[in-house]
Amino acid sequence: MVAALTERFFAHQKFAEIKGKMAKILLAEDDKNLGSVLKTELEESQYNVDLVPNGVEAVLSFISTSYDFVLLDMLMPRLSGIDALRIMKRIDPHIPVITFSGTARKEEQEESVRCGAIKWLAKPFAIAELKNEIRSHLLHKDGGAPR
Ligand SMILES: [Mg+2]
Repeated sequence: MVAALTERFFAHQKFAEIKGKMAKILLAEDDKNLGSVLKTELEESQYNVDLVPNGVEAVLSFISTSYDFVLLDMLMPRLSGIDALRIMKRIDPHIPVITFSGTARKEEQEESVRCGAIKWLAKPFAIAELKNEIRSHLLHKDGGAPR
């Protein structure tokens, strides 16, 4: 137990050193419970998280703020995750984006990847898996060795 906690602590320390700053994540999720759970979990892993409840606010935040990573729910009011993804990729083709949804439709997964998402996750997904994806992507981007 203590060993696992210690390892986690040093993993976060190492990550913070490599990044040199807290990575900023935009999280768009209209499910209030899932949104707040994800935000809390990611903040515990030393990320700075902006949570928005729909696609329009996601795009507006994306335009006004510089993010290191974007997490997009697919089914959202006002503007879908896939449309938000298309707009964000036109603004910044290099922004890493992970999409997720509960429909588990293969076409949706393929469309996400075609639009430039690095990963599509079916709900419910393990938060550890999401964190690993973000972490390894940011480490690679900065030239650090993944753990
Ligand atoms: Mg939704």
